[in-house]
Amino acid sequence: MTELKSRNFKRLYKKEIADQKLRANLKKATIQASDKRNDSFAEVDFNFLRNEAKKIKQESVSHLNDLLSQFEDRAHKNNCTVFYAESPEKANAYILEVARKNAVKKIVKSKSMVTEEIQLVPFLEKYGIETVETDLGEYIIQLAGETPSHITAPAIHKSRTEIAQLLHDKIGIELNDDPAFLTGEARKALREKFLSAEMGISGANFLVAENGTVVVVENEGNARLSTSAVKVHVVVTGIEKVIPRFSDLRIFMRLLGRSATGQKLTSYVSLIRGPRTDKEKDGPEEVHIVLLDNGRSRLLGSEHQEVLHCIRCGACLNVCPVYRNIGGHAYGSVYPGPIGSLVTPLFFGPENAPELPFASSLCGNCTEVCPVGISIHHQLLAMRQEIKSETKGGLEKFVFKNFRKTMLRPQRYRLFSRLARIFSSTPIARKAIKGWTDYRDLPQLPSRSFREIYKSNKGKG
Ligand code: SF4
Repeated sequence: MTELKSRNFKRLYKKEIADQKLRANLKKATIQASDKRNDSFAEVDFNFLRNEAKKIKQESVSHLNDLLSQFEDRAHKNNCTVFYAESPEKANAYILEVARKNAVKKIVKSKSMVTEEIQLVPFLEKYGIETVETDLGEYIIQLAGETPSHITAPAIHKSRTEIAQLLHDKIGIELNDDPAFLTGEARKALREKFLSAEMGISGANFLVAENGTVVVVENEGNARLSTSAVKVHVVVTGIEKVIPRFSDLRIFMRLLGRSATGQKLTSYVSLIRGPRTDKEKDGPEEVHIVLLDNGRSRLLGSEHQEVLHCIRCGACLNVCPVYRNIGGHAYGSVYPGPIGSLVTPLFFGPENAPELPFASSLCGNCTEVCPVGISIHHQLLAMRQEIKSETKGGLEKFVFKNFRKTMLRPQRYRLFSRLARIFSSTPIARKAIKGWTDYRDLPQLPSRSFREIYKSNKGKG
C-alpha cells in the first residue's frame, strides 16, 4: 500500500480551501443533493425507517461471525467462491490470481469504495490488465487521473464545463457541455469496453446471509453489465455488508436511494445469486466474492462498533460545513467527510490520520441525516479524546485546563474577561490567532461586560 495522504491534512485542506471555483462547485452540488434528500423524505417516516435500519445493523454487527458463516455456506451452495481477505494485499493478490487463471486482459469495473480502499485498479494495471471504470463519475475521474472526491458522486468537484473539456481532450469528442450529449458519448466509448472485457468487478451494497444474495444498487446500468456480460464476476466488499434476512432489504431500499440522491428507489437493483445455470443464456460462468476485513473486525465490541453500520450513502458529506468548503481530496483518504474522518483512522490506524477527527465543527448535521443512526459527532469526539490522550494533548490540554480553572473561579473569570476585551481590540490579537482568522472574522468583544452594564444601570428604573 502506498503511504496515505491523510497524514497531510493541514497542507491539503489549505490548498483546496483557497480554490474558489472548487468551493462554488461543491457548495452548489451538495446543497442541491441535501435539498433533494429532504424532499424525498417528506413522504415517508424517516425516524421509523432509521430506527428499523439501526436495529438490523446492530443485530448484523453483533452477530457478524455467524452471519458471515451463514452467507458463505449459502454462497457456496449457489456455486460462488468466497474468499476472506484480512488485508488489501491479500484481496489484490487473490483477484490477480483469478484474472490470470482466466487469461483476462480487460476488466470492466463498477463503482466500489472498497476497491478504492485496496487500490485495486493501479494494482491490476501494474500487471498489464486494463481496468476500466464504468460508472460515469468514476470514468471521468479515471480519465482525469484523479481519485473520487465523494462516496456516491466521485466527480462532484467538477463543473460540467470542466467535464466537457476533459472528455474532449481524452476521448476526442466535440466540445459541448450538454449533459445528455456528454453521457451519450461516454456510453458509446464504454459500450465497446463492456463487449470486449473478460472479467467484471463490482462492489456490494448488502450481502444477505439467509440466501447468499449479493445486492448491488446503482443508477446507470453499468454495474449490471459489469456483472452479467462477462465470463468472470468478482465482487469486492467489506465484511460489514452482511445483513440477516432478505426481508430486511425493504427498509434499506427505502433509505439508501433517498439519502444518497433523493430518489425513491435507484434505477437498478441487482440481486446476484451465482454464476449462470445450464438453463440460462447469459451471465458469468464464475462468481467470486472477496470479503475484506482490513481493520473492521478490530472494531467489534469496541466503542466504535457502530461505525460498521454505515451504508455509504454519502448524506453526511452533503450536509457537512467542513466538507462543503474543502471537498473530498483534502481528506487525503478514500473515505472523506464526517464518516471518512472516522473510518480512515479506524481502518488504517490513527497515526495515518491524526487530524481527521478534528476536521469537524461538531454541529451534528451528519448525525441528523444518517439513515442508520450512527452518532457521528459523538464518535468523532471520542476519537479526538483517544488521539489526544495518546499524544498528551500539548498546548490544547494546557489551554483547556486553564479555561476550566477560570470558569470555576468568578474573580479570575472577571479579570481574564476584562483582559480579553482589551486584548481583542488590538492588532496583536489577530496576529496571535492567525490561521483561525484566515477564513473567519474575529468577533469584536463589547467594551463593557453584562455585569458592568447591569451594575451601572441598577436603580435607574
Ligand atoms: S455515516 Fe451515515 S450518513 Fe454518512 S455515509 Fe454512512 S450511512 Fe450515510
